[in-house]
Amino acid sequence: MSDSTIRIRTGLPPVTEDPDTRGFFEAAAQGRLVIAACELCQRIIHLPSSFCAECGRHSVSWRDVAPRGTLHSWTVVEHQVHPDFPVPYTCVLVELDELPGVRLLGHLDGRPELRIGMPMVVEFVEVGGVTIPDWVPAQG
Ligand SMILES: [Zn+2]
Repeated sequence: MSDSTIRIRTGLPPVTEDPDTRGFFEAAAQGRLVIAACELCQRIIHLPSSFCAECGRHSVSWRDVAPRGTLHSWTVVEHQVHPDFPVPYTCVLVELDELPGVRLLGHLDGRPELRIGMPMVVEFVEVGGVTIPDWVPAQG
């Protein structure tokens, strides 16, 4: 099975083809969590784009951020819609500690015990040749 077939089947992102998100996945492959920001006005651009809506420039770069956040919300998926995603699983929405208001999605197997505001940390996971920053509850 080719990489592109795996990506289509699993919904993996087009890592090298998309200029708006390529840097995010390249950093993840190096074990870094990054968020797009305008080099001129410093505005955070999330969801990432190669264009800053604040100042109208195309001077966007990737800023390293601490891979820690707090659980903003979650939902448990009970209805299976794709054979590659067995249920139950839990989608988490995590707000970055360093950038309040910036939230990223993650995936947990099953129905874990969770609570709003609990500390979460990034765990880099490789799926089909793509490294994805995922979120897990912080230990301790
Ligand atoms: Zn700007």
